[in-house]
Amino acid sequence: MSSGFVDLHCHSTASDGTLSPSEVVRLAVDRDLSALALTDHDTIAGVAEAAAEARRVGIDFIPGIEISAEYPHPGTMHLLGYGVDPHNSTLADLTRRLLAGRDDRNPRIIAKLQSLNVSISMAEVEAEAGGKVIGRPHIAAILMRKGYVNSIKQAFDKYLAPGGLAYYDKERLSPKKAIAMILECGGLPVLAHPIQLRYQNDAQLERIVKDLLDLGLAGIEVIHSDHDASLVEQYSALADRFSLIKTGGSDFHGANKQIDLGVAAGRRIPRKFFDDLMAATQTRKAASPMTNDK
Ligand code: AMP
Ligand code: MN
Ligand code: MN
Ligand code: MN
Repeated sequence: MSSGFVDLHCHSTASDGTLSPSEVVRLAVDRDLSALALTDHDTIAGVAEAAAEARRVGIDFIPGIEISAEYPHPGTMHLLGYGVDPHNSTLADLTRRLLAGRDDRNPRIIAKLQSLNVSISMAEVEAEAGGKVIGRPHIAAILMRKGYVNSIKQAFDKYLAPGGLAYYDKERLSPKKAIAMILECGGLPVLAHPIQLRYQNDAQLERIVKDLLDLGLAGIEVIHSDHDASLVEQYSALADRFSLIKTGGSDFHGANKQIDLGVAAGRRIPRKFFDDLMAATQTRKAASPMTNDK
């Protein structure tokens, strides 16, 4: 019998997770989940493998992507795009553009680390990443392995996070452009982990959500590993008030973070979130037949 729980936010080796897409799907089965979304940063390279494995093991699957939008530090605004069409030409444009931003930034970080007498090369980082999406967690893993820091967190605090010795920002899309591109790719834009916006007060959060709604936002990630029970309540009420769908996910990254698949802040994610998400993507597709190459 299919279980009542899902996970709609996780990462694989296609970006900065440490398990392959198939391994993530098999872990979902171990955790007794009945559906999964893979939401790697800036890529859908893992989606085909995950979808095939999900079919093989008999759980439901929806493709996803997570992208960062322009937003003032120290906050971050991440948008999840669910149900994107892998064959959409805008999606190829989008991922190319996001990868170019990384390819521009990463060598700068490495050069800065080298100038600080850290022994590290782009070739090592590429080997660590194993795929096209190379992120700071890959650099952090090398710094830890070589003994420059004792933990991934310390690598970020000392070197890689804003204010760190080797921090560089990458080019990001405006929220407007990010939402427009997700919609053009046939996806549903969802605001990930609102707590990471580091808004000043509830009124500001509400304004941000309202502005995003005007741009086409479809949902809010209400359950996430960074949200406590009261935030889950608050974000759910906000979603209901604006008729946004509610999603939830652990933000599992494998060994890169102390997060278990299918569990976020001590709770599991209801199957209803997946069903509502699927229904919304279907409704959207029926309303606007695929507008690929214009
Ligand atoms: P990047 O995509 O290369 O800019 O790296 C961002 C990724 O690094 C995020 O998706 C997280 O997985 C991870 N990350 C960001 N900040 C931290 C932190 N303070 N400690 C550990 N991991 C972090
Ligand atoms: Mn990550
Ligand atoms: Mn995120
Ligand atoms: Mn994530």
